[in-house]
Amino acid sequence: MLTTLIITIFHYYKIVKKFIYTKIFRKHYYRVGSCKCCGECCKHIYVKHGKKVIDSEKTFRKLQFLHRFYTYLEVIGKDETGLIFSCTMQDPVTKMCKIHKHRPGICRRYPQEELFMMGGSLSDGCGYKLEPIIKFEEVLSNLIKKS
Ligand code: SF4
Ligand code: SF4
Repeated sequence: MLTTLIITIFHYYKIVKKFIYTKIFRKHYYRVGSCKCCGECCKHIYVKHGKKVIDSEKTFRKLQFLHRFYTYLEVIGKDETGLIFSCTMQDPVTKMCKIHKHRPGICRRYPQEELFMMGGSLSDGCGYKLEPIIKFEEVLSNLIKKS
């Protein structure tokens, strides 16, 4: 009886969660896993400001003081996606964040699915994964039902 109740609650929790993520937050992926503190994501950063990935140093200099996070960044390169930054708040020896308790929201929420839309990807050793909320089989089955 108790097991059935727990399963039912969990079932409805999943339905509500899926609804909130897809219909309210307009998300396509769940972030799963946990941080392994490898520090890779603080070394190779693209910055999307508004709808555009920053690709010019001149633009970046103008924007730099709009957001606390931008003031931590330094340009280390550029590729077809945009400017590549590293964060000066990363301790070069331990690879840990020097302001971990007070790190910006963008770092707390990392990785977000916008990463893919920017042409980025998770580093190989990252402990997180982005999993599709609606699985391929579900999309396929919905298409079959409609046809
Ligand atoms: S503020 Fe900290 S967590 Fe955010 S990118 Fe810099 S070092 Fe990484
Ligand atoms: S790359 Fe992934 S595992 Fe490594 S510090 Fe960043 S979030 Fe954590």
